[in-house]
Parts: sequence; C-alpha cells; structure tokens
Amino acid sequence: MNQIKPNSLAARDIAYHLHGYTNAVRHEQDGPLILTEGKGIYVHDENGRAYIEGMAGLWSVSLGFGEERLVEAAVRQMKKLPYYHTFTHKTSSVTVELAEKLIGLAPVPMSKVFFANSGSEANDTVIKIVWYYSNALGRPKKKKIISRQKAYHGVTVATASLTGLPNNHRDFDLPIANIIHADCPHYYRFGKEGESEAQFAQRMADSLEKLILAEGPDTVAAFIAEPVMGAGGVIVPPAGYFDLIQPILKKYDILFIADEVICGFGRTGNMFGSETFKLKPDILSCAKALSSSYLPISGVMINEKVYQALRDNSAKIGTFGHGFTYSGHPVPAAVALETLKIYEERNILAQVRSVAPAFQRELKRFADHPLVGETRGIGLVGAIELVKDKRTKEPFAPQQGVGFQAAKLCQEQGLITRAIMDSLAFCPPLIITEAEIGEMFRRFAKGLDATWAWVR
Ligand code: PLP
Repeated sequence: MNQIKPNSLAARDIAYHLHGYTNAVRHEQDGPLILTEGKGIYVHDENGRAYIEGMAGLWSVSLGFGEERLVEAAVRQMKKLPYYHTFTHKTSSVTVELAEKLIGLAPVPMSKVFFANSGSEANDTVIKIVWYYSNALGRPKKKKIISRQKAYHGVTVATASLTGLPNNHRDFDLPIANIIHADCPHYYRFGKEGESEAQFAQRMADSLEKLILAEGPDTVAAFIAEPVMGAGGVIVPPAGYFDLIQPILKKYDILFIADEVICGFGRTGNMFGSETFKLKPDILSCAKALSSSYLPISGVMINEKVYQALRDNSAKIGTFGHGFTYSGHPVPAAVALETLKIYEERNILAQVRSVAPAFQRELKRFADHPLVGETRGIGLVGAIELVKDKRTKEPFAPQQGVGFQAAKLCQEQGLITRAIMDSLAFCPPLIITEAEIGEMFRRFAKGLDATWAWVR
C-alpha cells in the first residue's frame, strides 16, 4: 500500500475519479500513477520520474509525445473554425480534405468514410451500417455478426458484445442478441498436439464455416476481425488463416469488416494490417494512430457496394439517421491530416520496417527465459506470455496475478507495458529508435527477473 498524502493529486483522484479498467478497491489502496508530461517515447510522472511508454499509451501515440506540428495544427484550426458538424449536408473544409486523403490511403478501393470519435463509436457505427445494409437489400433476417473469442472491438453495448473477453461481458448482461463468437486463432494456446500451423488454420476456417451453416447463412450478415488481435493478447493469425476464411465469407455473401484501430497506419509494417495479411474488407474501421491520438477521431470506410445500398435506403427513408455531434470535428480532423502528412514526409513505413527486425529480435530473445511460454509479434507490436510450466504451457492461476505483478515490476524499472492476463504487450511509438528498443527491453529484462524472483 502506498502512502497517500491528504489533499495530494493522488488523494483527490481517489476521491473523485472513477477509472476504467481498474479494480476500484486496489485503486483506493495504491492510488494512480499521475503523468504530467511526455517527450518522444518517454512520459514523466508528477515526481519527475521518466518511463518508456512501451504501449504508446493505449496502442495509440504513434508519433510519440511532444510533436509540435500536431499542436500547431490544432491551434491553427481552433483559431479558424473551432467547431462544425457534418449533419444535413454540412461540413468543414479540413474534414473534406481528410476524407479524400483517407479514401486515397485505403488498402482496397473504398467509397466513403464516416467519422466518429473513438474506436468503439466507429465499430458501433459499423454494426448499424451492417443492419441498415441488410434491411436496405430486403434481407431482414441477415443480421448476425460473427466476431471471435478474445477479439477487442470496443465497450459500447454493441461493441462490447463484439469484444470476446469475459470481463467486458460479465455483469454487464452482455453480449446482446445476434452477436456470435468464433474460435480464437491462437496456435500456441489452441493448436492441438501434433497439429501443424497450417492444419490449425484449416481447422479454424472449417469451424467458422460450420458455425455459419449451423446459424444459417441467410442469417449471418458480417464477420469482423482485427488483422492482429491486440487487447486479446497480441495474437498474430496463423499463416494462411485469412486466405482460408475470406472465400468462405464470399461463398455465403457475408461482409468482411477489418478493425484496423490498432493495426492501421503502419503498425504491422504496411499502412494497414489488411495489406500485411492480404485482406479485402468491405468495411474498415480506424482510430488511434489516425491522429497519433492527440485528439479523438475515428473513421469507418465503406466500399461502393455498401455505399450504394445505404445511399438508396437513405433516399427511400429520407435520411441516414446516424451521426455524432463531433463526427468530422474540424480540430481533430486537422490534427489527423497533419499526422498523415508527417507519416508521408518522414516515411513512417520505412522507419517501422527498419526498426521492426530489432524489435522482433529482442522479443524472441526472451523465449529461453524460464517464465516465458511464447513470444509473438509482427512489425512494432508484440507480446511475451508468461507461464507456470514452459513444457506443458500450463498457465498460472489467474488469482496469482502474475502478469499484473510483472507489469508493476517493469514500471519500477521505468517501463510501462500492459499485462493482458499473463501476457505482457509491447506497442511502442512508431518513431522509436533501435537504441531505444534496446533500452526498453533492458528494462523489461530487469522487470522479468524480478518477477521470476517473486514467483519463486
Ligand atoms: N478496436 C480495437 C482493435 C481496439 O484495440 C480498440 C481499443 O483499444 C477499440 C476498437 C475501441 O477503441 P476505443 O477505446 O477508442 O473506443
């Protein structure tokens, strides 16, 4: 238990602030980590202590902290037109520019982009578009959406339902109807004894097809997937997985939705994870690195097929009755546009490709550690899974909280990482240098050894 001084920021946080994804009792005991500034890959706490932000916040601050150009873009736009909306045929100039830019960057031909403020809102919009689309085509029964176990697509009522993690459902009375979860394609965890990666991918595809047939293909509207699952533990799909799945979706006329909220804008070494895994989505959601997360903005891209149905239905009904007060807000739009400009000018893809091999090498170095069951990753995202028994892959009992403890011990070493159960995730700012990658994993090594000592 930390000593929390009366009237300190920590005491006031405990008194007044309800945190997401937090054990409230533990928070009352330990208090918050209060960050006050950031520069590059580092953030500083209220006592001036520096930490490497190994998660870029929440997989999000792609350009690192303190990027002046994004600040200036926001200030310029605030002075010019600090707010406008996109309802009833209106928009601001910068929002038009951003829409055009995004459609130009899309990994497959896309027709239009709809703006929202968060990944959850983007995916919530996706669900509504899918249902609207099915109704527009006169297929009122075709409404089910297939997500996957361990997927993360957000926390609104509908997107938390898509999310395939128990803590997002438990005691929230979720998931809602018409959302189904297919198997999680994690070879290390769910591959069977003697099953090759290719056989595992085939089994995953077969079980998806079985699920579609059991539900009735005329009731299944869409399948949603992150190219690499993030918050489920950084799960890179087995080779061939998406190549096997996409023809099945085509066969049953099921829309494919790529959730690029983490993978979008360079994380996997291409502009979109869809390029890395050869995905051909009908709908694509993005957020986070779109604005380097300096201001909230997200987008939903739809292809011409989806747009045409939506277009005709909006004319028939009189409107596409959806939109947020802050959809296409000019200030985050200006920041996003500047972010995309910086990606181009500094060739962010070349930067990611040049440091990713060092990042992946460093991750793999931990494979021999007695606590480590699996290291996995692609591009500049990865995870290290801790296990009780390396040989049998037996996990620690959840109540031991080994992952949580490891993250805490890393924090003591000046590294912020994220424990997803007993996997430690890494998703640093895309601007990280090779030397900084070395330093990040040196700190991790110390945290891991301290965890090893704690476990024993
Ligand atoms: N989709 C993915 C893949 C995510 O990782 C996240 C958040 O981490 C979301 C959606 C939800 O985004 P938000 O937290 O902005 O609502």
